[in-house]
Amino acid sequence: MDRVSDARPQRAGNPGAQRDRLAVARRSEQGLADRDLADRDLAGQDPTSSVRTCVGCRSRAARSDLLRIVVVDGELLPDVRRRLPGRGAHLHPDLACLDLAERRRAFPRALRVSGPLGLERVRAHVQQIPRPGRDEDEPGRC
Ligand SMILES: [Zn+2]
Repeated sequence: MDRVSDARPQRAGNPGAQRDRLAVARRSEQGLADRDLADRDLAGQDPTSSVRTCVGCRSRAARSDLLRIVVVDGELLPDVRRRLPGRGAHLHPDLACLDLAERRRAFPRALRVSGPLGLERVRAHVQQIPRPGRDEDEPGRC
């Protein structure tokens, strides 16, 4: 029985070869649990799925673990209550991920807007979030 060939449905029109390489690297780094998440996300394409991709480190996480960010008048705002209308980007509430996202210009891309976006509100928000269980030596964390 060869089930491997149809176990991973191809997504048509995936724009980022770079992103794929990164995802593969991360997946092999993190092992089976993360691959399981990734496969579900790719195969499902379910709008109600609770798994989102962090625009910073590009790893997938439960939507409840990520901060939703929207853009209002050219400024990025943390949508803490997830109530603001419009397109949202998801980010780990982590400065490392915020920096990554900034360097990659991930926000304009994710939010489909052009031009520079103010990051101050998001940065201030992330900085004041307490991080009780921060594990310095946990591999694979962004
Ligand atoms: Zn992240």
